[in-house]
Amino acid sequence: MTYQYIFGPVASRRFGMSLGIDLSPDKKRCNFDCIYCELEKAKPVESYDNPPSADEIFEEIKKGVNLYEFDVLTITSNGEPTLYPHLNELIDKLKTLNKKLLILSNSSTIDKKEIQNTLKKLDIVKLSLDSANEKTFKKIDRPYKNILLQNIIKGMKEFRKLYKGELIIEILVVKGINDKVEEFQALNKVLAEIKPDRVDISTIDRPPAYNVEGVKIDRLFELAEYIKNQHIFIPTRENINYKIENLTKEELLNTLKKRPFSQSDVENILDERTQKIFNDLIKENLLEEVWVGGIKFYKAYI
Ligand code: SF4
Repeated sequence: MTYQYIFGPVASRRFGMSLGIDLSPDKKRCNFDCIYCELEKAKPVESYDNPPSADEIFEEIKKGVNLYEFDVLTITSNGEPTLYPHLNELIDKLKTLNKKLLILSNSSTIDKKEIQNTLKKLDIVKLSLDSANEKTFKKIDRPYKNILLQNIIKGMKEFRKLYKGELIIEILVVKGINDKVEEFQALNKVLAEIKPDRVDISTIDRPPAYNVEGVKIDRLFELAEYIKNQHIFIPTRENINYKIENLTKEELLNTLKKRPFSQSDVENILDERTQKIFNDLIKENLLEEVWVGGIKFYKAYI
């Protein structure tokens, strides 16, 4: 059977096995025109034209859900899923399936009360925040004309207060645009106020809509040093040269108090000696395991 609205399941590095729901399968409908978009360039739009009914989408999902094994049902779109006008109704229907629900949003509508009330019903909400600087935001995300970064940030803080699920903020780094230390210092300040559960830092992975490039994976680890006291996850397939080397037990414990390591950090960035110390810390029960959005982190008890 061919499906129109569901795809996968796909093994996502960030969320585990994910069965995707595409709310705009026929064309791109987005209020951003990001320079790094994997879809074609398209003028940003304000709303969703010719939306299918929530019933039509749900009927298909109900069939697909029983056929596959997956960890999370991911609401996404060829564009921005929160533009779909029947999202609230659809989410109410999806809740009856008793599956873990995730949405991948560009954050553009998070300042709207009705969107906040809709998204708060989900288990995981991923919002993008590529910069804390209005000018850089416009350069990277090329939003529809009335969308302002300051409203998005205000909306994220409001949403955090009423949302009990896992809030993940994603930063996508583009070479020469938001790959500067000052950008990350500014993001650090804003993230401390938003208080997400996890911060994902990634770069361009597939051919982008515009002529721009990603940065080396090591640069992501360097920039991550400026984001303090957050669970940071850097998904990667590349070899990593960035290393944390020769830490003493105290130094490693101190680092893990400020910056919990994901399982992939432990395997990829600790040198052999520091990994041994890490294993000793586990044996001595000095580290706590925390799962955030399907990723395991280790942090030191404070
Ligand atoms: S928000 Fe997503 S779909 Fe929209 S332009 Fe940006 S990357 Fe593409």
